[in-house]
Amino acid sequence: MQEATEGNYIDPVLRIKKATGHILARLHQGNQAEIYQELLSQELQSLQDHYGFSIELGPTKEDANYDLQTTPLNPITAYEGVVTIAQELQKYPSNYIQKCAIKKLILVASLQQNGNHWGGVTLPDGILYVTVYPNNTDDNTSIIHHELEHQATNAYSQDKTTTVFEIRGKTLRRTTYHDLAWEQIHKKSGIRYSQEKWQQRDSLDGFARRYGAKNHLEDQATIMELLMTNPLDLQARCFTDPILGQKVTRMILELKRRTNGTMDKQYFEDLIGKITQDKEFNEY
Ligand SMILES: [Zn+2]
Repeated sequence: MQEATEGNYIDPVLRIKKATGHILARLHQGNQAEIYQELLSQELQSLQDHYGFSIELGPTKEDANYDLQTTPLNPITAYEGVVTIAQELQKYPSNYIQKCAIKKLILVASLQQNGNHWGGVTLPDGILYVTVYPNNTDDNTSIIHHELEHQATNAYSQDKTTTVFEIRGKTLRRTTYHDLAWEQIHKKSGIRYSQEKWQQRDSLDGFARRYGAKNHLEDQATIMELLMTNPLDLQARCFTDPILGQKVTRMILELKRRTNGTMDKQYFEDLIGKITQDKEFNEY
């Protein structure tokens, strides 16, 4: 089974049900945005209390520090985003999230850096930016697992090197990580790494999605998106894609190491069961 909720943390689904009743009771009184604002504050507080990191709605003072351009969320989309994030984070053991040492999670409607649009960004010092799209739960769930994996790599990896780079004259440091065993999987398979990209022999072979070919960190983060949101599909793909299969196995071994054995193969079997159940329930 999936890890039980702890203490007085209330399952977000239950909270939505309560909130829905709350909203219906008050809708006729008018100001919908105000009601959502109130629900949003409660949900934010609950998440912050549970995991111990702060959650802010952008824009924030960090935008300028990291040369980011963001746009703010409306309270309704922000509320939906926070509920989605709460549900997705519940898939992990809570001490895993705590050890990831997230300092601040910033939610925005859009995110740009140097003219590029991003779904999320993980910055040094544990600051995570996450975009929340209206009515797009699939992307929203993927982004949180993707950025969390980058943060987990920062928190759990020992093999680090620091590079110094500049943005508009400001000197920043970025720590990079090597995973030689991971790179070995590609070497054996004949996928070459050149021009800062893994050169695939054939479209998606070996990768969860194309963006993963950028480097091993993106490779691992894109696998985590699928492993946490659609492990059954990923499992099916691994039967016909042995390179992807090796990577998923390595990823699960790494998660097992990080969680002292909790996130093992059985954990993902249970997660598949739980997700399948939720899907069936939603079809009613
Ligand atoms: Zn990434």
